[in-house]
Amino acid sequence: MLSICKSTIVKNLTALSSIVCLCLCFSTWAISPVATLTVQQKIERLVDLSEIQPQVAINELTKILTELPPDVTLTDKRDVLDALIELNIRKDQQQLAQANIEQLETLALRYNDEVSATLVLNFKVLQLENDGNFQAAKKLIDQALEKVKTLNDKKLTSRIHITAGLIYQQLGDFQIALQHLVTAIEYCQTGTKSEDLKLIQIYKIIGILYDATKNTELSLEYNAKATELALKIGAKNQMASLTNDRGVAYTTAGRFEEAKQSYVDSLRYARAIGSARNEVIAVNNLSDLTYRMGRYPECLEFGKETLALAEKMENNNYIASARINVGLCRMALGDVKLGAKEVNLGLDYLRKTSAKPDLETVLGQLAIAYQKAGMYREGFETLQEQLKISSELFGASQEHAMAEMKEKYEAHEREKQIELLEQKNQIQRVEIVNKSLQRVVAILATIIALATAATVFLFYRKLRNTNRDLEKANLKLAHQSTRDPLTGLLNRRAFNEAMKFRTQLRERREADLNQPPHALVLLDIDFFKKINDNYGHAAGDAVLVEISRRLNIAMREKDMLMRWGGEEFLIFLNHIPEASLELVIERLLISVGARPVMYEKKSISVTISAGFISLPQGEESEVNAGWEQLLKLADSALYMAKMHGRNQAIGITKLVVPMEQIEEVLINDFESAIKQQQIEIQKIPGPEQAEVTIEL
Ligand code: GH3
Ligand code: MG
Ligand code: MG
Repeated sequence: MLSICKSTIVKNLTALSSIVCLCLCFSTWAISPVATLTVQQKIERLVDLSEIQPQVAINELTKILTELPPDVTLTDKRDVLDALIELNIRKDQQQLAQANIEQLETLALRYNDEVSATLVLNFKVLQLENDGNFQAAKKLIDQALEKVKTLNDKKLTSRIHITAGLIYQQLGDFQIALQHLVTAIEYCQTGTKSEDLKLIQIYKIIGILYDATKNTELSLEYNAKATELALKIGAKNQMASLTNDRGVAYTTAGRFEEAKQSYVDSLRYARAIGSARNEVIAVNNLSDLTYRMGRYPECLEFGKETLALAEKMENNNYIASARINVGLCRMALGDVKLGAKEVNLGLDYLRKTSAKPDLETVLGQLAIAYQKAGMYREGFETLQEQLKISSELFGASQEHAMAEMKEKYEAHEREKQIELLEQKNQIQRVEIVNKSLQRVVAILATIIALATAATVFLFYRKLRNTNRDLEKANLKLAHQSTRDPLTGLLNRRAFNEAMKFRTQLRERREADLNQPPHALVLLDIDFFKKINDNYGHAAGDAVLVEISRRLNIAMREKDMLMRWGGEEFLIFLNHIPEASLELVIERLLISVGARPVMYEKKSISVTISAGFISLPQGEESEVNAGWEQLLKLADSALYMAKMHGRNQAIGITKLVVPMEQIEEVLINDFESAIKQQQIEIQKIPGPEQAEVTIEL
C-alpha cells in the first residue's frame, strides 16, 4: 500500500524545483532603445553565465545596478533588477531578492510603470510559492493576470501565465493550470533563448501535470522535450531540475531503480552548479524513494540530510517536507510517537499553506503508518481528513478536468496539437479579440475538437461540464462570449471561430479526405411560438433547456452542438459514415419528439424539424465549398421540412450543380432545383405523435 501513496513531498518539491527554471525563463525583456543596448547586452551575457556560475552573475549584475548613471532609462533599470531578483530567488537569497523587489516597487510607483508593478507581483508570487504559501500566491497571481491583460506585452503575458500554471498546479487545480500553460504557449514566441527557456518551463510543468494524473509515459515525454531543448541551448540549471522531475515520474510508475538513478544524477548536476535548492530537492526525493522501497534506515538518513540542508536555507516549505519524511521513517522503524509528532508538524504547515495535493498524499501515508502501528483511532481520523481533501481535489469537476487533460493529450495527434499552437502563435493569423482565459481555452478546445479524433471531442464536451468551476474563477464574462447563457451550449460565435481555424488547416483537410465526411444538421423547434404563447416564456425557456439536453444525449460523443439562434440548434456531426447518418438524425428527432417535456406538472409536446447536408460535398474540397454555403443549403432543406409538415428532417444527399451556382439555386427556388434534379434529397420522418402536437 505504501508504494501507491504518492509522496506529495516529492510532488511538492518537484513543483518547487520548477521555480528554479522559472527564474531562468525571463532573461530578456522589452526591446530597448539602441542607446541602452550595452546594458541589455550585459544582462543577456550575465543571464547566460548564470546557468553555470550564478553567483558570479549575481555579483556582476549587482555591480551594474550600483553603477547605473543617474539618467538611466526605466527599461534598463527595470531589466537589471528583474534579472537580479530572479537569480537571487533561484539562489535562495531571499533577503537580497526582497531588497531588489522593493527597489522595483519604488520604480513602479515613481514612474507609474505597470510593467514593473506586474513584475513585482510575479516575484512576490514566486516568493510565496517558495514558502509553500499557495493560497496567498494565488491571490497575487490573479492580480498579475488582470494587470497583464491591460499591457499588451506578449513576453510578460506568457511569463505571468506560466507562473499561474505553476501555482494552480500546486493547488491541485490541474485544469486551470493547464489552461494557463496553453495560454502561455499562445503568447510565447520561439527563436530567442529567453523564449526557449519559457517553452522548457511550459513543457516541464505539463510533464508535472501528467505525473499528477499518473500518466507516466506522457510525463516522461514532455520531460524529454524540455530536456532536449535545455540541452540545445545549454541551460544547465534546468537539467538538475528536469532530471529530478524524471525521477518523480519514474517513482510514480514504480520504476524505482530508474528513479534512483535520476535523483543521483540530479544531485550531481545540482552540486556541480552549486544549486542548494536542487540539492535539497534531490536528497529529499531520495528519502521519499527509499521510503517507498521499504529501505527505512536509508530513508531516515536522507531525511535528516534534507532537514539539515533545508534549515540552512531557512526554507519552511522544505523543512516541513523533510519533517514529514523523517517522521514517516521513524514511524516505520518503530518510533511511532516521535515520528507521528514530526509528521504532524510538517502537516500543519501544509494545512496552513493549502498545499492540497501534498496534504492529501501525506495524510494517506500517515493513515497507513498509524494503522500499521495499531493506532486505529488516529488512523481513522487521518483517513477522514484525507477523504475530505481528496473529494475536494478529485471530485466530479476535478475528475473531468483530469480526464480532459489526459484525453486532450492522449490523442495520437497530440504532438501536432502543440505544434499547431506554436505555429498559430507564430503566424498570428487569428486575432483573438477578447484574450481572456476562458475564451482562449474554449476556442482552443474547439479547434482541437474539430481537428482531431473522437477522444478529443470528449475534452471539448466535458469542458462544458466544468463551466461552473470556471465561472467561480471569475471568468463569467469571457464565458458568455462563447456560450449561450440559457442552455450552456456553445453559441454561433464559437462555431464561427472554430470553423475559421478549420478552414486554415489545409493539411488537416487533406488528411481528412480518407475519412467519412462531416454533416451539418440545422434544427428548429416546431411551433415554438405557440409554446411560449400557451405556457409562458419561462416554460419556453425550460423547453429549450430540455431539448438541448436531449439532443446532447442523442448525438455521439465526438459531435458538437450549438445553440444557433432562438429555438434553432446546429449540430456538427464529426466524420459520420453514410450508413449512420440517417440513424443519428432519426435518433435526434425521436429524442425530442417521442415524449413530451414536463414543466410544472404540465406535459408539453414538442417536435423538431431539421435540414442536413454533408461536408464536404462530393469531390469538392471543404476549403473550396465553404461551410457557410452548405449551411445555407441545410437551411433551405429545413425550410422545406417545415413546409412539408414539420417533425421531419430533409437532407441534401447529392448536389449536381457546381458550387458556384449554389447561391443561384437558393435564390431561384430550392424546390424547383429538386424537380430539375439539380439536387437530390432524403426525407427522415420524426416519431409519430400520439396526440395533436400543439393546439393551434
Ligand atoms: P416554426 O415551426 O415555423 O419554426 O414556428 P415557430 O413558432 O417555432 O417559429 P417562429 O420563428 O415564428 O417563433 C420562434 C419563437 O421563439 C419566437 C421567439 O419569441 C421565441 N424565442 C426565441 N428565443 C427564445 C428564448 O430564448 N426563450 C423563449 N421562451 N422563447 C424564445
Ligand atoms: Mg426559428
Ligand atoms: Mg421554430
